[in-house]
Amino acid sequence: MMDKIKIQKRKGFRYFSYKLDLFSVNYVNFIITDNYEPVKKRFDLEFEVDSTSVACSIYDTEQNFVGIILTEKANLDSLVHECVHIAVGIMDHANIPITEENDEVLAYLVEKLFNIGKQLFA
Ligand SMILES: [Zn+2]
Repeated sequence: MMDKIKIQKRKGFRYFSYKLDLFSVNYVNFIITDNYEPVKKRFDLEFEVDSTSVACSIYDTEQNFVGIILTEKANLDSLVHECVHIAVGIMDHANIPITEENDEVLAYLVEKLFNIGKQLFA
């Protein structure tokens, strides 16, 4: 099952905010851009992005921003990679340990985030 999303087009980037409402995370932002500056400005981020990376994830509790930023070079491999980082960040902030007995939470979160995020490539 897939939650339908609508990609927003802004000057310099495309994105959508997905309402997750899980643990302490309200929204997860999925962004595609080759230019971080307009994204940084739009979401009021202080985080600096390594310009050589194909994708990155941001879990910023101060700015209340959780998101994955993909460049145009990014693919589904990059997406699932960043989904794992975000899922671990969500669990960490919710104080849920990641163990073998408990890995279903991580697996579910990655599956959910990937299912949503892959619609950027549709
Ligand atoms: Zn990584």
